[in-house]
Amino acid sequence: MHSFNDIFETYNWDEVKTSIYAKTGADVEKALSATKRTLEDFKALVSPAAAPYLEQMAQLSQQLTLKRFGKVIQMYVPLYLSNECSNICTYCGFSYDNKVRRKTLSPMEIMREVAVIKDMGYEHVLLVTGEDNVTVHVDYFKKALELIRPHFAHISMEVQPMDLEDYEQLTPYGLNTVLVYQETYHREDYKKHHPKGKKSNFKYRLETPDRLGQAGIHKMGLGVLIGLEDWRTDCFFTALHLNYLEKRYWQSKYSLSFPRLRPFSGGLEPKVEMNDRELVQLICAYRLFNEEVELSISTRESPHFRNNIIKLGITSISAGSKTNPGGYAVEPESLEQFEISDERSPAEIARVISQQGYEPVWKDWDNCLT
Ligand code: SF4
Repeated sequence: MHSFNDIFETYNWDEVKTSIYAKTGADVEKALSATKRTLEDFKALVSPAAAPYLEQMAQLSQQLTLKRFGKVIQMYVPLYLSNECSNICTYCGFSYDNKVRRKTLSPMEIMREVAVIKDMGYEHVLLVTGEDNVTVHVDYFKKALELIRPHFAHISMEVQPMDLEDYEQLTPYGLNTVLVYQETYHREDYKKHHPKGKKSNFKYRLETPDRLGQAGIHKMGLGVLIGLEDWRTDCFFTALHLNYLEKRYWQSKYSLSFPRLRPFSGGLEPKVEMNDRELVQLICAYRLFNEEVELSISTRESPHFRNNIIKLGITSISAGSKTNPGGYAVEPESLEQFEISDERSPAEIARVISQQGYEPVWKDWDNCLT
């Protein structure tokens, strides 16, 4: 077995989709009563047949999350370093063909942004860039990590997929977590949404978590962009990917995100709509399938939704986010990747979490224990 691609190749998208939509109430009940849930159970839990069982799923998800994580929600914030990108992605404001001014933060600008984020109280930062190997490359990341590391307890990164050697070079600089979303596991539609640039290589992206595991990364994050394709099928493949990685790279930890397509300048309309109840169903299905995985929710979602999801299975939340480079201090008006839905400050979100009897945690719990 060389990589996840070997497993992925044995699956057929249409067959998986058909089997999900064929699940019945009896399959859902079997999944709910199981002690160890399988991928077939996961299919049942994300299927339309599970809709009437949402309350039961939510209760179970809450219990399992409490048992594993306690009453804590980890706080993190994105720091966009650059909006330069040499890829065309149909759904993103940073796409190469979007003719807008580009910006990559200089070392001094990075530190101005860091100062504002630190003032908000954050100890966990997610560094984000577009995918441009000329301006934002391994040496740029090393420099950025050197600058940022002393100020944060946990550093995550969401940048272009890289080679194994690159990840091996970056981990000694204090890189803890890498997020790499497949966007969609539908190979043909992936091509349509990524017509140009390195990102059009589906297999290279699909195998990135393998390279991260081989590099011994502390934690990696997976997910798809919900709205590009049938979300139930895409999320099944995410669960399959997670299952494989956990078994093979058992020393790493894992997180899942479920971003829904958001408006941006000149943007794509979702092909497939997912309503709020369905997103709750998905979050609970992930938790019932995997008790260990961290589940993360961003400011893409509305205040109302975020308030109500806190107790139902998620473990980390961002707040006060800017999705443009320099957005906190240097250049608040630069191009943002997508529109934020929840504009509340980190302090307000922390208050909402506390009001529900949970504790907002600013320092990553993994690091607290090491
Ligand atoms: S999704 Fe990423 S790779 Fe695609 S255009 Fe946006 S920043 Fe670039």
